[in-house]
Amino acid sequence: MTVAKSAVTPMMAQYLEIKQGYPNALLFYRMGDFYEMFFDDAVAAAEALDIALTKRGKHLGDEIPMCGVPVHSADGYLLTLIRKGFRVAVCEQLEDPAEAKKRGSKSVVKRDVVRLVTPGTLTEDALLEARRHNFLVAWAEVRDEAALAWVDISTGEFRVMGCAPVRLGPELARLAPREVIVSEAKEADLAGVVTEMGASITPLSRASFDSTAGQDRLQSLFRVGSLDAFGAFGRAEVSAMAAIVAYLEITQRGKLPLLRPPVREAADRVVQIDAATRRNLELTRSLSGGRDGSLLGAIDRTVTAPGARLLERRLTSPSRDLETVRARLDAVSVLIEDQALTEELREALRKAPDMDRALSRLALERGGPRDLTAIRNGLEQGQALVERMEGETLPPVLSEATGSLGGHLDLLDVLDQALVAEPPLLARDGGFIAPGYDEELDEARSLRDEGRGVIAGMQAQYCEQTSIGSLKIKHNNVLGYFVETTSTHADKMMSPPLNETFIHRQTTANAVRFTTVELNELETKIINAGSRALEIEKRLFEDLRTRILDCADRVGDAARALAEIDLAAALAVIARDEGWARPKVDESRAFDVAGGRHPVVEQALRRQGGAPFIANDCDLSAEASGATMWLVTGPNMAGKSTFLRQNALIALIAQMGSFVPAKSAHIGLVSQVFSRVGASDDLARGRSTFMVEMVETAAILNQADDRALVILDEIGRGTATYDGLSIAWATLEHLHDVNRARGLFATHYHELTRLADRLDGVRNATVAVKEWQGDVIFLHEVKRGSADRSYGVQVARLAGLPHPVVERARVVLEALEEGEREGGKQTTLIDDLPLFSAAPTPAPASPVKQSDVEARLEEVVPDDLTPRDALQLVYDLKKLL
Ligand code: ADP
Repeated sequence: MTVAKSAVTPMMAQYLEIKQGYPNALLFYRMGDFYEMFFDDAVAAAEALDIALTKRGKHLGDEIPMCGVPVHSADGYLLTLIRKGFRVAVCEQLEDPAEAKKRGSKSVVKRDVVRLVTPGTLTEDALLEARRHNFLVAWAEVRDEAALAWVDISTGEFRVMGCAPVRLGPELARLAPREVIVSEAKEADLAGVVTEMGASITPLSRASFDSTAGQDRLQSLFRVGSLDAFGAFGRAEVSAMAAIVAYLEITQRGKLPLLRPPVREAADRVVQIDAATRRNLELTRSLSGGRDGSLLGAIDRTVTAPGARLLERRLTSPSRDLETVRARLDAVSVLIEDQALTEELREALRKAPDMDRALSRLALERGGPRDLTAIRNGLEQGQALVERMEGETLPPVLSEATGSLGGHLDLLDVLDQALVAEPPLLARDGGFIAPGYDEELDEARSLRDEGRGVIAGMQAQYCEQTSIGSLKIKHNNVLGYFVETTSTHADKMMSPPLNETFIHRQTTANAVRFTTVELNELETKIINAGSRALEIEKRLFEDLRTRILDCADRVGDAARALAEIDLAAALAVIARDEGWARPKVDESRAFDVAGGRHPVVEQALRRQGGAPFIANDCDLSAEASGATMWLVTGPNMAGKSTFLRQNALIALIAQMGSFVPAKSAHIGLVSQVFSRVGASDDLARGRSTFMVEMVETAAILNQADDRALVILDEIGRGTATYDGLSIAWATLEHLHDVNRARGLFATHYHELTRLADRLDGVRNATVAVKEWQGDVIFLHEVKRGSADRSYGVQVARLAGLPHPVVERARVVLEALEEGEREGGKQTTLIDDLPLFSAAPTPAPASPVKQSDVEARLEEVVPDDLTPRDALQLVYDLKKLL
């Protein structure tokens, strides 16, 4: 069907043209006080935002679906859309509608997209989590090189590192980016790994990844003749960085955020931790997904958002560099010693705003007066810290930080004089420049304010002149200033002589309104002075913005220094409050923790107010004890997992440069940490669990080096007994003989404990329990030796299994154990006996008739079940009873 061009309104034609440039984004099309969406965008947005879908006119004979959000509350809607995976192109009116009218009645207001909002390119505080980074990542491959570049445009952090395809998953797990840019050609291959990490994937054209053009783009961005100034980057690294810059140019529509010069991060300088390990150890997110219950949540004592972000960065990438670790520990030590200093520093830090983010908004021309005051207040607190630390002998980390804080007196002075204490949010409302800073502004303001005073005088004069005491001069947006009296005085006002002065404007239900020549003149004066004041303030805002951006690098350094001090002080506070000890970290292969604790479990127990946490020792030092692997047995719920994890966490906390939750710790630098949990604990992820368990175990055996720390919790339990036992056996042997890693291995296969006799480096340990009147009491104490039995029946009883079932289980167990002792054929019964079978005798004489429940169970293939299916199955089974 062909449609006459006239069928499309000029506005719709403009809309369609702009929309064409952004097929993958929702177009927020500015119309007055609203952002409107049309067609499919409107349908999708209305559903995502739960707002009304309406219609507006027709297009090609069909009604046009439409929905809209008010501009003043657009941030909230934007956030919802971004969280739901949309991108939003924000299209603004680029001229006053009056201008368009001048061009003719059919003319449309000029509009264009000013910004493409995507998950990785947010800068507004309302759209960001203050205490988390918001990374945008690009991954590039050039021939046989591959690299990862990442940026937080809300802070300007820009990093790059070589990253082979197999390392992509672990690195994404470390950075937890919001958005990952890949080359179009790779989108299909990489979509899985990217979305698994919770990021959205953005394909870009090959051209954006071009390393030669990219080099030029980067050089001109950083105003250098050669990138060598920042390091010798490979082609893939340049390509990844170039893609980031290209994407920022697209999304920010030519304005570029303040990027720090790129820093090359070396993979071998940080502890390698893969995605599964991060999840199992609950480093920054608990298994249920939140920050609460994670290690980060438990140890964060920072008082500023940049400090919290730095803590997360350190915790996700602990260092492998001895000097770095020691230098950070020195800073914490000094602050632990000097409690008064630490408290004073934190007092000042609490008043320091997020300068990083303010700076980036100012650079992108998205800043407001509060971003200016954020810089002022931050620098002011920085200066206070400098003065406080003067004369103190400080370790390098703190003295370097202090060095970056000072030297801003000139800028501080200007900002101090220029800005009021608490400015309004928007520059266009004015009122943020302090009186006395700019003469012209003061003049315009006093004219405006005087005018308001004159109005009060005028009202008094009119009252007298008319003898109407209730006469008022009021203001509204339609009429401006006007004189108002009640309707009872209307006649009098409209008759001579008063009607010579008072010109009737409007009659409402209860009132009549007038204006006077004099009032009109005054109003013009007030308006002129007011808008002049606003203009001057706008100019001054620009001036202050430029002054700040002129020293953006150093202001950024100061912001980073504040974060560093905040982090050191926060680590000092938690070490003191929780009784942590300074770890001895060196190049040895020691791992000797005395009185170690799990910070998250310990705090949880304390909150519950019950039994205290029991501290435990762990010595995996080859030199001292000879044993680098502990095989930990003990009943369920005894505390095996807790013990395993706490030791991995202690190593990571130490290498982050922090004191550790232990009486003492000696840690030879750890290069990699691996942690795996046997399949059935991994239900939440709903995969064929045994396969996953084996894939992950294989990854460890292939990668762990002799500086790795490996924590394996019940590996092998996802399959039949002897299979599992054999796999666990072989895995332990391999780790011991080939990988030569330090590690802890928890198992419920008691047979494995015999390995300790055969392998030099393996020692048995058990979590002690006491049996008392048929019940098991958990002591949570780890000691040498192996568990004599598993106490499964007792634990089942504690868990509330019905009494007859527990009793029955006891009988079956005894029969089985007896059979095993006699070495008869009955051993095979162990494997044949179905779980929870209440069959009357171990060897039924005749086939038993199948119940409905059994018949239903027989059909089930457990490996195919998702957790939800499993739950449904239980419901179904119950119905059959
Ligand atoms: P397992 O892995 O042996 O089944 P967990 O490590 O999951 O046992 O521990 C079970 C529970 O025991 C934990 O949730 C915790 O409440 C408690 N617990 C574990 N270790 C300790 C400890 N050292 N001191 C006190 N309570 C502990």
